[in-house]
Amino acid sequence: MVWVLSKPALSAVQGKSVRPDDTLFLAIHRDAVVADGHNDALTRTLGGEDLSIRTSRGHTDLARLREGGLDVQVFALYVNPSAKNPFRTVLRMLDTLHALAKRAGRILRVTRTSGEIQQAAAEGVIAAVASLEGGHAVGLSYPRILELYRRGVRIFGPTWSRGTPWASSSQEEAAGKRRGLTASGKRLVRAIDSLGMLIDISHAGPKTVEDILDIVHGPVIASHSSCAALCPSERNLTDAQIRALARRGGVVMINFCPGFLRSGGGSDAEAIRSFQRRLQSIGSGSKRFESRALEARDSLIAEARRRGLPTILDVADHIDHAVRIAGDEHVGLGSDFDGIDLTPVGLADVADLPFLTRELLRRGYPIESIRRILGGNLMRVFHEQCR
Ligand SMILES: [Zn+2]
Repeated sequence: MVWVLSKPALSAVQGKSVRPDDTLFLAIHRDAVVADGHNDALTRTLGGEDLSIRTSRGHTDLARLREGGLDVQVFALYVNPSAKNPFRTVLRMLDTLHALAKRAGRILRVTRTSGEIQQAAAEGVIAAVASLEGGHAVGLSYPRILELYRRGVRIFGPTWSRGTPWASSSQEEAAGKRRGLTASGKRLVRAIDSLGMLIDISHAGPKTVEDILDIVHGPVIASHSSCAALCPSERNLTDAQIRALARRGGVVMINFCPGFLRSGGGSDAEAIRSFQRRLQSIGSGSKRFESRALEARDSLIAEARRRGLPTILDVADHIDHAVRIAGDEHVGLGSDFDGIDLTPVGLADVADLPFLTRELLRRGYPIESIRRILGGNLMRVFHEQCR
């Protein structure tokens, strides 16, 4: 199928003040469904922060989501396993998300099905999808899972870094505890799959991933994991795992965490922050997309790359690798914004996402392929599993 630029996209390309090659990426970005598989901004609301107010803290707020051209944002419900009552805190975070969407009805809406996402996109409203990160918050309680489903949760990650008694994490398995899913864990995962939730294998250990792929019927996602072939972290996926996920129709969504992009990628925090500050001083808002600003941006990112710092180019490298291994129908974005302290140079927060589209375009990706990676693939699996 030949991809045709929509009318608003075309008029953006035909803008007179900027060269067409400098605005084409913006047109493509605005026209595509852009979906991010993992964002931890809700944890900031536990400390009283209001995401409807634009701030320079953290990586996410409604204004910056808009600026980044996000159409679908998956919000993780993560509570530390040591917390007193993780389930109650998860419900509190869900209430906060619903309340935020209610107050900002024309900007954000909690969506439960692919139809609701499409409707939101048609109205220019950002679709929020709730996702549970770590089965420790529900234990083995099916009623709790039903309660989460009723309140809109559609993605379920059986384990966080610290495993649950019924699912071993990547961290645990790297330390030799290769438990995988227990029999009751398998029953629970089957039940979640039949309910119509997507199973998320990020943080799961290799044996748990194998067990999940053995029993789950629907497509499986890795909401925020990068490629172990480029950065050998236990949190990243091996080529064999990426292939296995693709064979089942799933999606690997690349994590932006510097430590998962490059070995030692987060070690020079001060240098990374200094580059981010210099990039910020180039300009904000639409000024960032003017030719001169883009040139200044490119040279700073090239300098950071020469110094071995993690940059937006590393994110594109991981996308390249995953596409080579699995094909462009099985790769997406899972930023982990607000779940990571440091971000790659050139991808400081959600507002910087259009620059990733620009990099993919420069690397020669066809527009259809870019649209799949930006969000089309997550939408496909969401449509299959969450009708
Ligand atoms: Zn995580």
